[in-house]
Amino acid sequence: MIPQNEQLSPAEKTWQTHEALNQLYGVLDLRKPRREPIHELISTMLSHRTTHANEETAYYRMRELYPTWPEVMTAPVDELTKVLETAQYPGPKAINIQKALRLIQEKAPDFSLHFLEEMSVEEAMDWLMALPGVGLKTATLLLLFNFHKPVLPVDTHVFRVSQRVGLIGAKVTAEKAHTILLDMLPKEAPVLFNFHKHLYWHGQRICTWKGPKCQECPLCALCNYCQEVRQKGVDKQKKVI
Ligand code: SF4
Repeated sequence: MIPQNEQLSPAEKTWQTHEALNQLYGVLDLRKPRREPIHELISTMLSHRTTHANEETAYYRMRELYPTWPEVMTAPVDELTKVLETAQYPGPKAINIQKALRLIQEKAPDFSLHFLEEMSVEEAMDWLMALPGVGLKTATLLLLFNFHKPVLPVDTHVFRVSQRVGLIGAKVTAEKAHTILLDMLPKEAPVLFNFHKHLYWHGQRICTWKGPKCQECPLCALCNYCQEVRQKGVDKQKKVI
C-alpha cells in the first residue's frame, strides 16, 4: 500500500516511485552492454531531437559509407552532413562528430573509449563533456550503460514523470534534475539503471506528454499531478451540489 502523497518527502517519494515501477515493469539486470562505447556515444550524439529509427538510419548509413572511424573523421563535411540527413541538425552534428573523433583519437588511437573505465565518475564526466556536442544526458547514458558507473541520465521522459509526480520542483531544469534525483537515490548502478529505464518506459507508455493515463497508473496516490486533477474533480462536484 503506497502512503499518501502529502506524508512523503521528495526522497521517500522517489524511493516509493522506484519500488512501484520495479513492480510494474520488473527489475532489469544491468548486463554487459550490447554496443561498443564509441557506437553508443556517436549514436547518442545523433539522437538529439531525433527519433530512434531516424538516428539508426543515419548511424548505419554513415558506417556503411565510412566503415572506419578515421574515414568518418576525414570525410568532407558536406558529404557527411548529407549522409546524416535523417537526424535533426545534420550539419552541426557532422562537425561535432568529426571534432569529437579527433579528440578521442588523441587519447585512444583505436577509438575504444575503454580508458573511461579507469577514471573516477567526475574525471570521466569532465572528459566526456569537454567533447563538442556531448552534454550531461549523453555523458551519463554512456557511463551508466557501458561502464556501469553510478550516474543518472535524465531524458525528456524521466524529467516529465519526475516533475508530475513531484520528485523535483516545477522550476527545476533538466540539467539540475540530474543531481537532485541522483542525490535522493543510492549510488548503485543497478538501482540507477532500473530507475532510468522504468521512468523512461513509463513516460513513453503511461505518463505520456499529451495524455497521461492516470487511471491505469500505480503512482497516482503518490503523484502531485494526479492528486491535483482528482481534487479539481471533487471541487467541481461540490460546486454542482
Ligand atoms: S499518475 Fe498520471 S501524471 Fe502521475 S505519473 Fe502516473 S500517469 Fe503520470
